[in-house]
Amino acid sequence: MGGDNLSAVLYGKNDLRLENRPIPEPGPNDVLLRMSQVGICGSDVSYLTKGYIGDFVVKQPMVLGHESSGVVVSCGSKVKHLKPGDRVAIEPGVPCRMCDFCKGGKYNLCPDVFFCATPPDHGNLCRFYTHAADFCYKLPDHVTLEEGAILEPLSVGVHACRRAGVTIGSNVLICGAGPIGLVNLLTAKAMGATKVCITDIAQNRLEVAKQMGADYTVLVDTGDAEALAKRIKELMGGMPDITIECSGAEPSIRLGIFATKSGGMMVLVGLGPAEVKVPIVNAAVREVDIRGIFRYANCYPTALDMIASGKINVKPLITHRYKLEESAKAFETARTGAGGAIKVMISCE
Ligand code: NAD
Ligand code: ZN
Repeated sequence: MGGDNLSAVLYGKNDLRLENRPIPEPGPNDVLLRMSQVGICGSDVSYLTKGYIGDFVVKQPMVLGHESSGVVVSCGSKVKHLKPGDRVAIEPGVPCRMCDFCKGGKYNLCPDVFFCATPPDHGNLCRFYTHAADFCYKLPDHVTLEEGAILEPLSVGVHACRRAGVTIGSNVLICGAGPIGLVNLLTAKAMGATKVCITDIAQNRLEVAKQMGADYTVLVDTGDAEALAKRIKELMGGMPDITIECSGAEPSIRLGIFATKSGGMMVLVGLGPAEVKVPIVNAAVREVDIRGIFRYANCYPTALDMIASGKINVKPLITHRYKLEESAKAFETARTGAGGAIKVMISCE
């Protein structure tokens, strides 16, 4: 395929190729973007190493990447709020705008969503890409394009903390200190949480969490969830009102239920095995509510405000940087977590 648009294309399991594709044409409501920064997400790594996530299977070549920012090259005829040269964060999921979910504001639940790098939809780990203009958010001059790309995982944190009801004075337990646990930590603190405790099975991730503002860290070194819950209660001076589970691991979900205060809330962000064994009666008789979350809706503006206002600093999340031509190396770093990798960023400039 000809063209002048170098792209990282996944052909199937462990088959990532750099190839030139045509530069796309923006429709009336789209913008053509020169891509800037693209963060690697665990889902990109899963598509590369397994070729699928759940029912989403890579059946035809797909451009990877969905945590992204870029610069507007040209605008479709109906685009009013952006102009060439604007630096934007790209919200990767564009819903149908027609269904009940879209009309009700829960557009993350739209069954007809286009979502970058979820098969069969192409992502934007490439030089040029078109996107719906209303899902591009102009960055103020002092917000970097790397920060623009981080708005994607950060929006997951905003949505999770909103659904958890985090507010001033909340005591929050976050399970798992990967990128998603860490953005939840930043968001919970920004929303006014008094104490945040975070767990992980890896001590190096807990060190990062501490540097990013965690009040307490707990190394998960036993399968005894009830003993861990007791340790957390003692450490925090009481049981957390809210638990935000960000690992997806069965033992961690079990811990989340035992650890959460009666009448409290546990939000499931982590997506692990499709079915897990949890102490559901314990949750039921103590009125611990359990909520799921799927991506985010209406969270990009808040995530951007948190960064632009200086309320949070996401820069420590970015540990590794590569060029588009080095995508294979970048994915290897993300896959292995070598060198304490948290967020691996690829520059398409
Ligand atoms: P990650 O793999 O980098 O982080 C997970 C962390 O959990 C790791 O640091 C790991 O050491 C830790 N962990 C593993 N077992 C644990 C245990 N028993 N107790 C405590 N910590 C444990 O992944 P990430 O990018 O941070 O994403 C986290 C999860 O969130 C993934 O499951 C991902 O699929 C999910 N996710 C969900 C949504 C959504 O919309 N619901 C969106 C984005 C990501
Ligand atoms: Zn819809």
